[in-house]
Amino acid sequence: MREIYLDNSATTKVLPEVADLMVKVMTEDYGNPSSMHMKGVEAEKYIKESKEKIASVLKCDTKEILFTSCGTESDNTALIGCAHANERRGKHLITTRIEHPAILRAMEQLEKEGFKVTYLGTDDTGVISLDELKEAITDETILVSIMHVNNEIGSIEPIAEAGALIKEINKDIIFHVDAVQSFGKLKIQPKKMNIDLLSISGHKIHAPKGIGILYIRNGVKINPIIYGGGQQGGMRSGTEPVPSIAAIGEAARLAYKDFDTEIPRLYELKKYFIDGVTKIEGVSINGLPKDGSLGAPHVISVSVRDVRAEVLLHSLEDKGIYVSAGSACSTHKRAASETLLSINLEKPLLESTVRFSTSVLTTKEDIEEAVKAMQEIIPMLRRYTRK
Ligand code: PLP
Repeated sequence: MREIYLDNSATTKVLPEVADLMVKVMTEDYGNPSSMHMKGVEAEKYIKESKEKIASVLKCDTKEILFTSCGTESDNTALIGCAHANERRGKHLITTRIEHPAILRAMEQLEKEGFKVTYLGTDDTGVISLDELKEAITDETILVSIMHVNNEIGSIEPIAEAGALIKEINKDIIFHVDAVQSFGKLKIQPKKMNIDLLSISGHKIHAPKGIGILYIRNGVKINPIIYGGGQQGGMRSGTEPVPSIAAIGEAARLAYKDFDTEIPRLYELKKYFIDGVTKIEGVSINGLPKDGSLGAPHVISVSVRDVRAEVLLHSLEDKGIYVSAGSACSTHKRAASETLLSINLEKPLLESTVRFSTSVLTTKEDIEEAVKAMQEIIPMLRRYTRK
């Protein structure tokens, strides 16, 4: 059976070019970058090259790139490191209700330490209000953290507008953006968008699991959250994972290499999929903008009335199609998704929502088969549940 992987927001397949580079670093150029001999110097070169590739796509300085172990660590370093380094200026933080747990749980920890957090709501399409953001900012506010693309419904937050607004009110407020789902899918320029801190995860962009990036704008003060041998300028101790660092640099470069043809292609696939599945009775798409545009190119949240998400997921799996029930990252917990609650999804649909997510490796045939499978499976499952 052909495998149709439509769970790319959970994780992606490593690209062959990226894997080849990793194997070379692991088996040939395996030195410790802190070593003074030639093997160390060679390893250090991979770190430098990776930073150059990332800086080139983000249009930033190589000194502004920090390597972490994942998106979660990037988010935690940004929030906790920033709060601790700046608490003398104030103890108020702002974020949204629909963030990933990597933000929400870190914020809860900071609340336990005495910080005050304002959680912004969204409209029915999953987008925050800039007026609400403006009202939430006080003299005590030191940090605002807003995700770029929501991992469950693919809504796009107004990051450039929020950045401009925050800096207009107080240029010392630090602006963090979780770009784990948007990197490679939308254009991101931290300097143009007034972003001070930006999180990226390797395994969402066809690099392996276990590597992340935190962009830290020159001059922004954050404390480390990991202490040790002083690697990466003391900002993140631990021997640098050179194979993974080389991999994420190459993956970042490739993510923007064919951007101008790949992203329109993903939008076409999304449109085709939506047109196909919404012809089925009782099927609706969540998080689409009201202006008729399609949100993020790669995430599609689908609610199927009278069908439980897990049942649909496994029926699709029987046909070799892999999707996710809501968000894979929150399925460890049985609580209803904050994002789906925030968009006021009808209660009966909360447990009937699945996420399809595409990548550069997704083909038109994959999407055609997925639509066909949905058209076959859904009426069958309904007959079964209504018996
Ligand atoms: N932020 C967002 C928006 C995500 O979707 C995810 C993972 O799904 C993360 C953060 C966490 O990234 P990682 O899995 O690399 O820790």
